[in-house]
Amino acid sequence: MFRKTFAKWALVMASAMLLSHGALGQGKPNVVILATGGTIAGAGADVTNSATYQAAKVPVDKLIASVPQMANVANVRGEQIFQIGSESLRNDNLMTLGKRVSALVKQNDVDGIVITHGTDTTEETAYFLNLVVKTEKPIVVVASMRPGTAMSADGTLNLYNAVVVAGSKDARGRGTFVVMNDEINSGRDVSKMVNIRPEAFKSPWGALGMVVEGKNYWFRKLDKRHTTNSEFDIDKIDALPLVEIAYAGGNVNDTAYRAFANAGAKAIIHAGPGNGSVAATLVPVLQELRGKGLHIIRSSHVNAGGFVLRNGEQPDDKYDWIVAHDLNPQKARILASVALTATGDTKELQRIFMEY
Ligand code: GLU
Repeated sequence: MFRKTFAKWALVMASAMLLSHGALGQGKPNVVILATGGTIAGAGADVTNSATYQAAKVPVDKLIASVPQMANVANVRGEQIFQIGSESLRNDNLMTLGKRVSALVKQNDVDGIVITHGTDTTEETAYFLNLVVKTEKPIVVVASMRPGTAMSADGTLNLYNAVVVAGSKDARGRGTFVVMNDEINSGRDVSKMVNIRPEAFKSPWGALGMVVEGKNYWFRKLDKRHTTNSEFDIDKIDALPLVEIAYAGGNVNDTAYRAFANAGAKAIIHAGPGNGSVAATLVPVLQELRGKGLHIIRSSHVNAGGFVLRNGEQPDDKYDWIVAHDLNPQKARILASVALTATGDTKELQRIFMEY
């Protein structure tokens, strides 16, 4: 009797382990690499071409084959989702990617996700997934600044590190990541700060940790709401509304703002200087557009971290405007697009901008 029960128990345990670590698990985590293109899949004519090359050329199987050491740390399989430069990524692509990630993380035989991506909009995709995918499992967006054909290419180590993080238990529940140049940055905070050299990505509030020789070293946690603690869920979103960014330097005109309004934008991100400042000639225009139902979101294009204070530079309460706080314009566009699927109320939108 005891033997029979034990045999039954052993069988249940064995199948549970197979489910959680995959049929060929051998104790290693299962990581799915979703490839979308970018320089990490790029190829140049010569090894000296570190900046002149074609992005989005190398298919996912070849990318995986280029780093056989990944097999020591995870069971890795790949899917080619897109093969494009990330500057061409559209909301539809974000939706497709988000829904695929959401479906994968629900599988028991998937422990983590890596998304290979172009650097141009890595920060947008990582933030989007941080907002809408309900999971504790690590989701890592990885990119490279040099194509694999170049001298001192950074893609292979970045990819290896990304797989390490995606397969790590200690990376769970911390939101999405961008792993590049040995740093683990939060998908929420990180931004491309320079468009040349491997040390291109930084977070204004610092990295979450480092990944070195197959091990993670953590320094802080993201305090903002994300993933399982987010009120947004990709499974319940069908499409993202149109949100546009209007860049404002000196001598700014109302042309772009009015054109965006006419094109049916639901919100305009004002990418202003300093504290999201608005030129005197623009203030009545933005008031008028708000009166027509468009949301006006003041953000800052200050490179290393803008910080827009509500009612600081402009009386936002009076004008019924919103501030993006520390989100740069491109991240503000992502959050506004997601938030507008749930509410059109200014107070609610402002709450969301402070919480995420
Ligand atoms: N513009 C391309 C992209 O974002 C290549 C840049 C890169 O990945 O570094 O996909």
